[in-house]
Amino acid sequence: MQAEVIAIGDELTTGQRLDTNSQWLSTELGLLGIPVCFHTTVCDTLEAGIDAFRIAAARCDLVVATGGLGPTADDLTRDVLAAVSGQPLDLSAAALEAVESRFARRAVAMPESNRRQAMFPRGTRIIPNPDGTAPGIDLDVRRPDGGTSRIIALPGVPSEMREMWRGTVASALAAMLPDAGVFVHRRIKCFGAGESAVEEMLPDLIRRGRDPLVGITAHEATITLRILARGSDEAECLAKIAPTERTIRECLGPHVYGIEDDEVEDAAVRALAGAGQTLGTIEIGTEGRVANCLAQAQSRRQAQLPSHPHDPAPAVYRGGLVLPAAAVVQVEHESAASMKSLADRARAECGATLGLAVGAARPGPDGRSVLTIALSDGQRVEQIEHMLGGGPTLAFSRAAKTAVDLVRRKLEPRIAPS
Ligand code: AMP
Ligand code: MG
Repeated sequence: MQAEVIAIGDELTTGQRLDTNSQWLSTELGLLGIPVCFHTTVCDTLEAGIDAFRIAAARCDLVVATGGLGPTADDLTRDVLAAVSGQPLDLSAAALEAVESRFARRAVAMPESNRRQAMFPRGTRIIPNPDGTAPGIDLDVRRPDGGTSRIIALPGVPSEMREMWRGTVASALAAMLPDAGVFVHRRIKCFGAGESAVEEMLPDLIRRGRDPLVGITAHEATITLRILARGSDEAECLAKIAPTERTIRECLGPHVYGIEDDEVEDAAVRALAGAGQTLGTIEIGTEGRVANCLAQAQSRRQAQLPSHPHDPAPAVYRGGLVLPAAAVVQVEHESAASMKSLADRARAECGATLGLAVGAARPGPDGRSVLTIALSDGQRVEQIEHMLGGGPTLAFSRAAKTAVDLVRRKLEPRIAPS
């Protein structure tokens, strides 16, 4: 089985809005084990819509589309699908009642145009929309070769589309797969080595057809390894995932900092709490990125911990000083000794056990900019020279993450590979 994803809307083809639905749906289809071979983006006209769906239905067994199901004159997906399937539009009394009752609950008269949202090409399995007025369409259409292609049309509003996918569509599609089973995926998060370096450290794990499948993606210097297992139940999937995860952790060692949605700063805050330490920071020219990400991670952690609303978990991040790059003239030149004194100043001013200092960027040996990061516990100082690269925004966000990751690496107990 192969799938095509169609994104519908003038706002997409004119470049006013980025098509995020196709990205999300393709990831979800991948998790179900359905490969997506085509993405099509099409404007709101009837002719273009009919073309796009005819082509998609002819080459794919499954077509998932978003957009154009609203009540306005430019929402033509239902008319397009009526034309492509050769079926008339029928009014669904149940769907009309659902739309009417949404308006009644808000004590607003339903505009006549909303009746259209209760019209479906004959043969449609209606996909309920708990969050909006536009139900989705699940329809089989005949292909020129005599086969059938299944078309799923969902609203463009990302939150409604996702809710309908999770509530109805994903399980309906899973049920039609040849060896229906369940999928479980696990994401292992790494920092401190590039994508290709990480790939090289892993012994032949990232290849097509492997079970469980391992994929790699990079985002702002964070590498995500995704393990995807398929089995008859969750326990079987987890049993498949465990040895692969163990291999990844053994091969990558301290580069692995967490799982799932963890960011480097979440791991650092966790490590501080685990070690009973606190942290203060000073950063020069990084626009507060270090303080910002640590403060956010701390809030996330406090929100997760079961604590009294008026008595939040103690703050392990004690705050920081954010200086503009120009301030470097006042903060004496950054010799090794002065970086230690900056880190100690961060400890002292924030009343913390550890101080982290990120120095100003300066020209490095090979023409690239470099900055110094120092972490002091009052006795010992750990210091690294960090090369900046990848454009100003990305460069400083990487530098901030590298600094934060130094804290995690210092504190995390290392489990010797078995
Ligand atoms: P529609 O269902 O076409 O009326 O779209 C409703 C809303 O969802 C509009 O604000 C669109 O900009 C947004 N939207 C539609 N398609 C997409 C898409 N592919 N990605 C992200 N947003 C979208
Ligand atoms: Mg639209």
